[in-house]
Amino acid sequence: MKQDETMKVKRYDDTNVNPDFVAERKKCTFNIELLTNIIDGSSYLTETRRQAQLAVLNNESFSNLPDRYYASRDEAYAQNIRKSAAYIKLLKEDKSISRAESYFMQCLIFPNEVPPFSLHTTMFTPTFESMADEEQKKLWMPRIENYEILGTYIQTEMGHGTNVRGLETTATFDPSTDEFIIHSPTLTSIKWWPGGLGKTCNCAIVMASLITNGRNEGIHPFIVQLRDFETHEPLKGGLTIGDIGTKLGFHGMDNGFVKFDQFRIPRRNMLMKSAKVTRDGTYQKEKKLEKLKYGSMVFVRAMLVFNQAGQGLAQAVTIAARYSCVRRQSEYAPGQEEPHIIEYQAQQHILFTELAASYIFYIAGNKLRELYFTMNYDIQKGDLSDLPELHALSAGLKALTLDEAVVGIERCRLICGGHGYSAASGIPKIYTEVVAACTYEGVHPVLYLQTARYLLKVYQAALLSSSASSLPDNQSSKYIFRHLHSERPRFHFPLSFVEIVEAFERRALMCIEKASKKLDGLLATGRPHHEAWNYSACYLIRAAKAHSHVYLTSSVHEQLETVRQEDAGVYTVLGQLFELYALKSIVDHAVEFIESCGITTDQINICIERIEALLLNIRPNVLPLVDAFDFPDRLLGSALGCYDGNVYQRLYEYALNSPLNKSTVNVAYFVYYIAINIS
Ligand SMILES: Cc1cc2nc3c(=O)[nH]c(=O)nc-3n(C[C@H](O)[C@H](O)[C@H](O)COP(=O)(O)OP(=O)(O)OC[C@H]3O[C@@H](n4cnc5c(N)ncnc54)[C@H](O)[C@@H]3O)c2cc1C
Repeated sequence: MKQDETMKVKRYDDTNVNPDFVAERKKCTFNIELLTNIIDGSSYLTETRRQAQLAVLNNESFSNLPDRYYASRDEAYAQNIRKSAAYIKLLKEDKSISRAESYFMQCLIFPNEVPPFSLHTTMFTPTFESMADEEQKKLWMPRIENYEILGTYIQTEMGHGTNVRGLETTATFDPSTDEFIIHSPTLTSIKWWPGGLGKTCNCAIVMASLITNGRNEGIHPFIVQLRDFETHEPLKGGLTIGDIGTKLGFHGMDNGFVKFDQFRIPRRNMLMKSAKVTRDGTYQKEKKLEKLKYGSMVFVRAMLVFNQAGQGLAQAVTIAARYSCVRRQSEYAPGQEEPHIIEYQAQQHILFTELAASYIFYIAGNKLRELYFTMNYDIQKGDLSDLPELHALSAGLKALTLDEAVVGIERCRLICGGHGYSAASGIPKIYTEVVAACTYEGVHPVLYLQTARYLLKVYQAALLSSSASSLPDNQSSKYIFRHLHSERPRFHFPLSFVEIVEAFERRALMCIEKASKKLDGLLATGRPHHEAWNYSACYLIRAAKAHSHVYLTSSVHEQLETVRQEDAGVYTVLGQLFELYALKSIVDHAVEFIESCGITTDQINICIERIEALLLNIRPNVLPLVDAFDFPDRLLGSALGCYDGNVYQRLYEYALNSPLNKSTVNVAYFVYYIAINIS
């Protein structure tokens, strides 16, 4: 984006900082900026993000916005459309804004919510680009890039989500008119959930069963215009469109439904890069290209690990940490001033383990993104060999990190006491956004099972191989083969970083072996494969989780090795966070580690003691560690989590702004309550 040297808005207001915070920040033992760069990926990316954020903070269209927590659904949607219009105008005016920059801007304009047009950029455009042929791109892309076309991605139906093959919507080719007829044959086939479908988007990619010459060729993508480009009214000819109603969160987003009633679209609206229907109705498909869709899935999942699990948890941790350094409660020693709640070990245990987890997810998300870019480069050259490994890894990681993040966010809310329950804390909104990601882009049991299916294949291949070189050159094959064909190492306590990774690998191998044995055992009793698979699910899911933990620990360990050369202070704090996350996981899954690594219960107790020591080590740096996340106050939207620590003033202002306080006596009280007292 264009650099603006006149940008004067400060990211943080240093003028009126709570004295307790000033004292806390003085205890810092490491270079905060360097840690911020690690989270962002590089110093260049930190600068890019900050410039993009400043562009929003300086822009009048996005200042003095109504309070985000008091809006009704109608108001929330209207506010979002207003902001969307201003944001899209900005993107149109400054074509140099990169995708990454636009994302950072979007996060500040729509903090912890998904704007109605988001599917246009995250799903509609990438899917169109990867599934449309060159002629289709030439025809549609200018209007897509110009936001004249605003698109969403329509797959899920009221009756089917996970099982894509079960989708009932049909697209039947009519050779007499050279058109497809899109139809929802049943109530359950009504398309349900797509973001921006209810009121906002005028086009969509619709997934439907393609029928031509009487044959069902399976689910394919079609680009469908839904609304008139001038009047924005739904098109006539067989469409019923609407909003699906209030949800747990996402109040400013119009998740919608659409029912197709013999709705006609031109044949060339089928996206024809990997499959096509010719003018005479002949179906043709290119198998190799079909796999391309898995590439974009990997990308979206990598983004979710970073943006939702990492960033969502980091925001909740920032709020809880800052509040814990302000809030004083309970008598610690008789006659002494109440301590900050951060001094309670119980508080530290929750807060610091979640702090550690957020760093782990950020770093692993970054690494996964890098892996995706390498793989994508190979794919462009026609090499799809890394796709299965990365597809399985991204499925398991998306599930594990989001599962852990939503629990972590809720734990952060709970340790803020009563004020954590107020919307003003900001945590409820973070929770409702992140927990949605546990459902879209794949429900977690199903994702874990996908990962497990791949792991069993790798395990079988490793069992039959006598040398690692005959296996695919990837992380799973390497560690599974190595541990399968070597003696169990002796572990020394406290565990070194290398031993930690080894322990996670051995535990994963054991879980994979057990899942494989369970499945084989059931098959040996004569059960059909689908049934044996179903009744092995608990073992399979454990294996997928353990494997995902291997990736988390090994990728952060790799990052630590790089940091070790660069900065001793950052290496120390990052090492403490790594160790804390790993040891807590070992203690939480102690049975699996005892069994797989030959560890004793006494050694588990050493881990517990070590965790307590780490809490003390981390304590002086807690505020700098959350400052390193570098969230502008506007992004957090939290009275409890502001940089200056002036919690109570903000809470009071928030309450005074409540719409209920616009009058001293509420009309409803008169209408209903006084009435019963009179009668
Ligand atoms: C906020 C939000 C936004 C969304 N946005 C979009 C969108 O833009 N476009 C779109 O098309 N869709 C969207 N969706 C829909 C989403 O993709 C689906 O909800 C999701 O794929 C799950 O499908 P389902 O709801 O039909 O659940 P189901 O498939 O019915 O699953 C219900 C539960 O059954 C269990 N289960 C199902 N199958 C299996 C199995 N094989 N093995 C083990 N357990 C199983 C799981 O526990 C699962 O959670 C959105 C959903 C939400 C919540």
